[in-house]
Amino acid sequence: MKQNKNPLGFLIGALLLGVFWGLLSQWGAKSESTPDAQKAASEEKTVAPTPPKIVYQDNAAQDLALALIQNGRHAQTPLKSYDRVGRNESLSVVLDRNGIDSLDVHHLSRSLKGVFDVRTVRPGRVVVLERESNSGKLLSFTYRYRGENGAPAKAVATRLPNKKHGAPEPWFKAETIATPVTTQPVVLVGKVKSTLYQSLIDAGGNAYLVNRFADVFTWDIDFYREVQNGDAFKVVTEKKYANGSFVGFGRVLAAEYVNQGRALRGYLYASKDEKVQGYFDEKGKCLEKTFLKNPMEIARITSRYGQRFHPVLKRRKQHNGVDYGASRGTPFWAVADGTVKEARYSRSAGNMIVLRHRNGYETEYFHAKGFARGIRRGAKVKQRQIIGYVGSTGRSTGPHLHFGMKKHGRYVNPGRQKFPAGRPIPKKYMGEYQKVMAPLKIQLEENQQI
Ligand SMILES: [Zn+2]
Repeated sequence: MKQNKNPLGFLIGALLLGVFWGLLSQWGAKSESTPDAQKAASEEKTVAPTPPKIVYQDNAAQDLALALIQNGRHAQTPLKSYDRVGRNESLSVVLDRNGIDSLDVHHLSRSLKGVFDVRTVRPGRVVVLERESNSGKLLSFTYRYRGENGAPAKAVATRLPNKKHGAPEPWFKAETIATPVTTQPVVLVGKVKSTLYQSLIDAGGNAYLVNRFADVFTWDIDFYREVQNGDAFKVVTEKKYANGSFVGFGRVLAAEYVNQGRALRGYLYASKDEKVQGYFDEKGKCLEKTFLKNPMEIARITSRYGQRFHPVLKRRKQHNGVDYGASRGTPFWAVADGTVKEARYSRSAGNMIVLRHRNGYETEYFHAKGFARGIRRGAKVKQRQIIGYVGSTGRSTGPHLHFGMKKHGRYVNPGRQKFPAGRPIPKKYMGEYQKVMAPLKIQLEENQQI
């Protein structure tokens, strides 16, 4: 061309081309609003393109958009995506939904074997997948959950380098990483106002702790009928922390309950050889008895329901039991070891269970919504085994459990019965028990309510 020989014309041409090119690349990079990206685009004429510095955030959509904009320029930057396990979903369903290669799924599950039990995967938990942005090849898998101690934990599987189809196993290296948990003993002290449940929560506890506290005295106190305003409680328990934040309560080490002036104390003891375990009093007497006082967790029991005037029959009737108000579906348990004598429907009692126990005792559970699996005539049950669920079947005005007790065929007041206790701490363990119990006793006595 003619202009080629004209240095000025060539210069103008080149300049125009440069401006045009500059505009083009600016336009192409418009959607990347980071100043770094624009700088990179305008410098493109003079220096080799430098990849824009991008701060990756926990946003799968953003990651994808960025990868599209970059148009595979940074294939080595892994793509992170986040998903949650849905209801009734297994891990393989989640992986499949995210387009993970079935062979990778296979190798992933093999690597997790013995490291993390995939059957424990629960709805709502987060799954993080890291992939090569150009090929989509799975680089790493992370499942976040709560560890046994309630602290954040994760199961991670990372692809080992150079593992392609046909390569020998393993393709991934799996491990679980748990946040270290520290425990700190605390003492909660309070007095009952309205309900023990609410009072323990006001003292700094939670529903879990209320039930663990009740576990200590569940053989001695009917937390439904015997609790009075002004009763005092103390709990020596463990508070668990992970990353500096509270994750939950641990064991109840010692507890005191002053019920209408009668003080009860229990200390947790587990011998080093694990032969002796449970709550004991200061003398080493076992708090455990053959019968529990309550047929369900106290945190589940709603306000007092008992009434003498029968709401359906509209007349006063001898009430042979205790009515526990609780929401429909609340599980209830056998108060003692025994055999199912009856598990059937009756017009008045609705779905009813009668258990036969030792020493001529029987217990009755009426108005159930349904029975637990395996509860049928002749079945053996253990103390605290769930046998049914609260309902309102039969002659009943609202969901509650009618609980009754008979001795040699006659109704008795369950609260008045004296049941045999479990074995006390054997002599040879008493020295060890004293060492464990003494400092706990001091903690109970030091922390007086003012
Ligand atoms: Zn009743």
